[in-house]
Amino acid sequence: MKISRALMEVRAFSHKEMFILAAVSGGRGSRAMLTALSELLGDRVVIMALTVDEGIPGVSDKRIEAAKRDCENLGIEHHVVSLKKVLGFTIGEVGELYLRGKLKLKPCTVCGVLRRYILNKMAKTMGADLLSTGHTLDDEAQEFLMKFIKGNIKDMTRSFSLGGAYELLVPRLRPLKYCSEEEIYAYLKIKGKSLQEAFPCPFVAGSYRDRVRQLLRRRIEEGNDVRNAIIKVAEGIARGLEAREIGRLKRCPECGEPTSRNLCRTCELKDIIKRVMNAHRKT
Ligand SMILES: [Zn+2]
Repeated sequence: MKISRALMEVRAFSHKEMFILAAVSGGRGSRAMLTALSELLGDRVVIMALTVDEGIPGVSDKRIEAAKRDCENLGIEHHVVSLKKVLGFTIGEVGELYLRGKLKLKPCTVCGVLRRYILNKMAKTMGADLLSTGHTLDDEAQEFLMKFIKGNIKDMTRSFSLGGAYELLVPRLRPLKYCSEEEIYAYLKIKGKSLQEAFPCPFVAGSYRDRVRQLLRRRIEEGNDVRNAIIKVAEGIARGLEAREIGRLKRCPECGEPTSRNLCRTCELKDIIKRVMNAHRKT
């Protein structure tokens, strides 16, 4: 029911044959998303899956393997794109520099920005009409709180907008955004799918997202589940901002990808990381 509601919000389904590119990580969310897409839309649309190889030692390979297995089970074509090939470095290298105090940028922040960048770029290159992700109600609530606490209101339009309001951004589909992690667990169990969780990244502990996740978890344990209320507020704010064209995107002068700044965040991060890597190599 909740999955259908999320799918119904995307107006584009009514016409022509669509191509949906699903971003998969081999975790529960992306497995449930792929299963739902293939069951509910598989006979009407073309579905392909894409995994970003972040180059995190001991993690990325396992994630790719799991994602490949999920796709094979559902008969979905699977592609892998390497962050190193696109940008010239891995998140493993970024994490190492961070842990050694050479780089101030947190690997999780870098990974999040760069993954979104690559997914959008690949979705455009492959000609996808929609980019589907396995974000759950929990992920969405975390995202809102993170932006809210940091006062990053402008970015909310992009994260919670219901339609494809931005021409440079491939419209997003989040079939699981109204489903809690508990519901996704139950859904996979009913469908007889693997309950294997995503392989955890060694850099995630203590990250900003991790702290927000724990805050929400504590509220739930105290009998105060605010996740549904949060996404309602988030989507309301996004609609209001969209109507007033706040958070409008322009083209990055360096790479041509969408940005609300002068230089896009990916180009900015890439410059900093490459500079630190070069300086580090010399010493
Ligand atoms: Zn750029």
